[in-house]
Amino acid sequence: MCAESKELWASVVVDVRVSRVDRAFDYSVPEQLRSRIAVGHRVLVPFGSRRSVVGYVVGLTDERPPISGLRPIQRLLDDEPVFSHADLAVAKWMSEHYMCLFVQALQCFLPPGASSRRARPVRERSVKAYRLAVSVPEALRLADELAGRAPRQAEVLKRLAAAPSKPVPAKDLVNGGSYEPLQALVRRGVVHEGQVAVRRAPAGGLEAGAAVPALTPHQERAVAQAREILAGGPAGLQTLLLHGVTGSGKTEVYLRIIAACLEQGRGAIVLVPDISLTPQTLGRFQARFGDRVAVLHSRLSDGERYDEWLRIKRGDAPIVVGARSAVFAPVPRLGVIIIDEEHEGSYKQDETPRYHAREVAEARMTELGGLVVLGSATPSLETFYRTYNRQVAYASLPERVHGRPLPTADVVDMREELLIGNTSMFSRALQGSLAETLSRREQAIILINRRGFASFLLCRECGHVPRCEACGVSLTYHQAPPGLRCHYCGYSARVPGACPQCSGKYLRPFGVGTQRVEQALRELFPAARVARMDRDTMTRKGAHRELLRAFQERRVDVLVGTQMVAKGLDFPGVTLVGVVSADTALHFPDFRAAERTFQLLTQVAGRAGRGEQAGEVILQTYSPDHYAIQTASRHDYAQFVRHELTFRKRTGYPPFARLVRILFTGEDEQQVAKTAMEAAQVKPQTGVKVIGPSPAPLSRLHGKTRWHVLVKGENGVHALAHEIVARVPEASAAVNVAVDVDPLSLL
Ligand code: ADP
Ligand code: ZN
Repeated sequence: MCAESKELWASVVVDVRVSRVDRAFDYSVPEQLRSRIAVGHRVLVPFGSRRSVVGYVVGLTDERPPISGLRPIQRLLDDEPVFSHADLAVAKWMSEHYMCLFVQALQCFLPPGASSRRARPVRERSVKAYRLAVSVPEALRLADELAGRAPRQAEVLKRLAAAPSKPVPAKDLVNGGSYEPLQALVRRGVVHEGQVAVRRAPAGGLEAGAAVPALTPHQERAVAQAREILAGGPAGLQTLLLHGVTGSGKTEVYLRIIAACLEQGRGAIVLVPDISLTPQTLGRFQARFGDRVAVLHSRLSDGERYDEWLRIKRGDAPIVVGARSAVFAPVPRLGVIIIDEEHEGSYKQDETPRYHAREVAEARMTELGGLVVLGSATPSLETFYRTYNRQVAYASLPERVHGRPLPTADVVDMREELLIGNTSMFSRALQGSLAETLSRREQAIILINRRGFASFLLCRECGHVPRCEACGVSLTYHQAPPGLRCHYCGYSARVPGACPQCSGKYLRPFGVGTQRVEQALRELFPAARVARMDRDTMTRKGAHRELLRAFQERRVDVLVGTQMVAKGLDFPGVTLVGVVSADTALHFPDFRAAERTFQLLTQVAGRAGRGEQAGEVILQTYSPDHYAIQTASRHDYAQFVRHELTFRKRTGYPPFARLVRILFTGEDEQQVAKTAMEAAQVKPQTGVKVIGPSPAPLSRLHGKTRWHVLVKGENGVHALAHEIVARVPEASAAVNVAVDVDPLSLL
């Protein structure tokens, strides 16, 4: 009694997205709310001259704040809090680390649709449902009585009598017939009418067997390592890198770790790079854990997403499989977050807050105590580097299951093809292998990783690609105005008339797209069933699953596609993988170009030979001696890392330094340039460097001019980035400033 009447104040973060109000404000809690309000509640509060805005309770105190006349909270928007104390701490960390507004970070944890003013736009869906108002024997007696003159009423009664404990939705009772018999029974008073919630369930994955295989010794060891960490109880974060070659059975290890977690009464989140692209993986989790798996990804309808969120929050689905944002899922008693293919770029959000799911996962498990598992055949250099000083524990699966060999790749030198007069995009080797594969009625995957972006210039005689000397990245070929440009520092050069290295005349902008490859394949092999998989063909919901099912059922012989075809597919019929050009990714203007090439080639090669028949891989390239291509062809991760770390150390890129990118955009070209240049007039401490400002590689986008500044260094990059942002006058609303900490893309 006494506690209830005690005065109470709340600190509330308001959902107004401007930096001026990026802090908590104090409100008084009216008496009738005091027993119900908690940290994590969504509330409605008066704010400034506005009558009310949505806010989030981040603190409660019975100590009177120093300011008097505080306005009261108007009302609670939900019965239950929508985030926890731990969520709050992670959001706080995010806002500092990623330099975003606190409310933007907090938003990530909220249920779908929560920032809208009053009732959520999305609610549970319910339908009319019926149950008996009389005892079962009485219902059966009445059914006999009605059998002659009202057979359909009798039928309904019998059905309800068979399941007397819960309401049955109307449509399950009338079988497409009229609702009149139901109404008649309601009028008689023998049946109650009510509502039941119906779940809008997302599409499931591809069917998978439910059999639980005995673990290989390596899998056994990895699972034991994870179990040991989990058995330690909630005592801080531990990260485990599961480095397993393609086909080594990483998914089975994940399944066992989750089972161990469930035994302890704790839940799990599994992140996959793009769940709508990996229905096979989802299918395996559903086959093992059934309804206890919730699915979260961007292609769900609002209703589906909301219902899944509720199932998770209520503890009905302790396992969440989802894409990047599922890292925030409100799993009660979360024990593990697993990130499959942890090296994938899609784990980084490319709009504010620009978080990386790996870091958020670690921040959450630091708060909650538990395990983060990072799985990959090609771990990112950032993660692998952290195993050196044991910040990250290491488990490896060096072999494929059933002792199947990893396919070795043939590197085909496309310069030689040109020399002998083969100007086709397919080498003789690839044409020959395709013909053989098709005649054996086996399947092939052809990768052509053409991104919709200006290409680089390549000498078809010597393989030379013009590069920026200062930045070490390839220069990008621009058609209008014509020129070669460095997308990092802005250096530009004329398009040379002949190759600077060999004086050859065949300097060509490079780039073949998936469509051209598909067409060429059809011409070359008219009898083959060819299908294409890229962003253009996958726009329709479900298109991807259908295509993969067709491939699984061998209704497609050759699958042509972008990097989508490299990811996670496990089809035993695939015995040939061909890469049309390993160079597309290699000469991308990015210091991670070699790493991405190595990852992509290793991943796509791993799709071959997963069944009984051995696999073959053909990599076409104009740079056959490049270390990324050489090491990928031999699956030699260790050698690749040695080489790449040396390069990163020499050039001062991650993991040896951090980067912060500050992007300036606006309609007025001169004003954007001026703002960027003035903001960058800072004095860096030793060890921190400011690169630029320069026009961003995509210097115009959506009618806006883009400039950027890079801050690079081992320590102090945050502080300097803050300084730069602070130099932008608040009044300059015409120029937008965005900060990207540890950017993965510098376009
Ligand atoms: P990865 O994710 O490492 O590429 P997968 O998890 O896809 O590998 O496993 C490859 C194949 O091996 C799958 O078909 C999987 O069902 C099977 N598999 C995994 N572990 C075992 C095991 N211990 N015994 C038999 N088959 C296994
Ligand atoms: Zn440069």
